[in-house]
Amino acid sequence: MATQPIGYLKLHLYNTLSRKTEVFRPFYPQRVKVYTCGPTVYSSPHIGNFTAYIYWDLLIRTLKANGYIPFRILNLTDVGHLTSDADDGEDKMEKGAKQAGLSVWEVAEHYTKEFLSGYESLHLTPPDRLAKATGYIAEDIKLINVLTDKGYTYETRDGIYYDTSKFPAYPDFARLKLESLKAGARVEFSTEKRHASDFALWKFIQPGDTHAMRWDYLDRPGYPGWHIECSSIIHAELGETIDIHTGGIDHIPVHHTNEIAQSEAAFDRQLAKYWLHCNHLTSEGQKISKSLGNGYTLAELSQKGFSPLDFKMWVLQGHYRSERDFSLANLEAAKIRRLKWRNRLAACYQAQLFSKDSGVANSQDPTTSLEQVKYAVNDDLNSAAAFAIIDQADHVSLDFWQGIEDLFDLDLFTDIEAAQDFALPILEERAIARSEKDYQKSDQLRDQLAEHNLTVLDSPHGQIWQFLS
Ligand SMILES: [Zn+2]
Repeated sequence: MATQPIGYLKLHLYNTLSRKTEVFRPFYPQRVKVYTCGPTVYSSPHIGNFTAYIYWDLLIRTLKANGYIPFRILNLTDVGHLTSDADDGEDKMEKGAKQAGLSVWEVAEHYTKEFLSGYESLHLTPPDRLAKATGYIAEDIKLINVLTDKGYTYETRDGIYYDTSKFPAYPDFARLKLESLKAGARVEFSTEKRHASDFALWKFIQPGDTHAMRWDYLDRPGYPGWHIECSSIIHAELGETIDIHTGGIDHIPVHHTNEIAQSEAAFDRQLAKYWLHCNHLTSEGQKISKSLGNGYTLAELSQKGFSPLDFKMWVLQGHYRSERDFSLANLEAAKIRRLKWRNRLAACYQAQLFSKDSGVANSQDPTTSLEQVKYAVNDDLNSAAAFAIIDQADHVSLDFWQGIEDLFDLDLFTDIEAAQDFALPILEERAIARSEKDYQKSDQLRDQLAEHNLTVLDSPHGQIWQFLS
């Protein structure tokens, strides 16, 4: 069976639904249905936008390490919607288009490409299906019709609204206090809204509105509301109840609360069994914002000499539920830590080659340390604890590093073979030069290595090459 525990601990996940850490038990023994709320593709993604996907990549890899076969959908919000949760404000896509001098469709395509290339450079497991919101308008409409038939909606001049008073469980997920919500709400845009927590399922295009993305529904042009796409994509692609739904903690009080209200009212079934939420990322002590310039893109980090994998290392050094503060100094420390791992792996690779050549069997046993690492990630994806174990693990073999790579993919194996092919003849030449006390030649050979980002260490077992950066 697939549900054999790894390490000594069954997979445990913190479930926002119960506010408790629970043993993970999927509906079916092997297949696990996962849905991840994706980005709105209207501007260049920054480090804060990628953090969640790095954590959810660890989730997928951990599920696989436990013998499960995850099937995951990631949505892309390429449809214009509003800047704030409260159904008002400027449309993000329209705003992005205006700024870039492009059409909304071009904006969506351009930033989708940017997001996906960043996603790939971080070595994140591709979703099994990438669902663009604009591909599910018919499903949105079908779902709204179901809700209307069941009496959950009402129409205003502005659009079709969900009547949250008809769904008594509405406040439960986010532990909302509806009274205080009412008192604090500003219901200024749509005065016909019946309750402060009601939300638009569909918006009508008003006369004079230049909103470019529009579809016909109820004989007038309009476009879907903020939250409907996730409910319809989940229903269309994954069915009525899924195992795991992921997002950021800012999704809890509105977006995910509304998803639950839509899906559970329409289908009378629980939307998701486990809800996982990652915490906020701040940068240099502050909320990430354009004006502060602290929302670095991966390209900007690369100009400063950091690989996307250094950033991934930094993200995974912390636990997904803890608040993290990014800084370039912290990123530098993560880069050094990753370099150390790469060099330990390089040393291990060379030792293994040596032991094969000399016929010495490799007596190192990787099992214990790797099992400890897996134990840590099975404890609610505690990558921080896993990394501390990796730092301290010694006498580990290539199998250990392969196991680490399977769980985290930090691209540790990259360039190893090429470096070995390049360095080996030079190291041999250098050994001869040194035995002949030709130190000038030996230094020249060291310089030659340095030009290829390599250096040489003289160890008790002879020379080994290491990466410089
Ligand atoms: Zn969503």
